[in-house]
Amino acid sequence: VIEVKNIIRDFKLGQETVHVLKGINLDIKKGDYVALMGPSGSGKSTFMNLLGCLDTPTSGEYLLNGTAVSSLNDNQLADIRNSEIGFVFQTFNLLPRTTALDNVALPMVYAGKSKKDRHARASEVLKSVGLEDRMDHKPNQLSGGQRQRVAVARALVNKPSIILADEPTGNLDSKTSVEIMALFDEIHANGNTVILVTHEEDIAEHAHRVIRLRDGLIESDIRNPK
Ligand code: ATP
Ligand code: MG
Repeated sequence: VIEVKNIIRDFKLGQETVHVLKGINLDIKKGDYVALMGPSGSGKSTFMNLLGCLDTPTSGEYLLNGTAVSSLNDNQLADIRNSEIGFVFQTFNLLPRTTALDNVALPMVYAGKSKKDRHARASEVLKSVGLEDRMDHKPNQLSGGQRQRVAVARALVNKPSIILADEPTGNLDSKTSVEIMALFDEIHANGNTVILVTHEEDIAEHAHRVIRLRDGLIESDIRNPK
């Protein structure tokens, strides 16, 4: 589903050019469960943002389900991001004044669904993450783990086949992390491709493939570690 060919991502910082990704080559197959690891600053988030179509590479090719992402215009990029990819962030990124239900329903506004359909689907997904009794709560009325469940539900709402998560348990205590990881295991068991960034070995153990970045390059790529 994902083919990355010699991807380079530079950032301009004043006069300077920072070389962050220095030529990444990677194939990810449908149903892969990948942990992306590596030191702070190695380029993990930069790479995830490219995979999630939140950013485009300086050079190189990214094929997502056979589509060359670099050739898409902004509208097409937004479309593919909305339909094929669910993105979960370390800091949840929920709208603070909006209920769980409406946070989850939001991506369907872009997809052009009616309000009734949006709410029906959003409550179905919230139920599947165990939040049927928290739909009308706003983010500040929820625990960290519940907020991340809302964010996971939002990522799933348009039924994308690829779920990307950048340190989804980074702001959670270890017990809550275990609960969120059970959710990712389930998402993977349902046939989705899952790629998550983590610093923690016990989180990475959930994955079936561990890729390590160092200084903008892939240092190792190991299937079925352990
Ligand atoms: P962490 O584990 O701390 O989250 P990371 O592996 O996710 O680290 P990135 O966020 O991808 O690291 O950043 C990699 C490098 O790219 C860093 O040195 C960072 O300063 C630089 N960088 C990222 N985004 C930009 C930007 N927009 N402009 C300039 N430099 C950037
Ligand atoms: Mg990061």
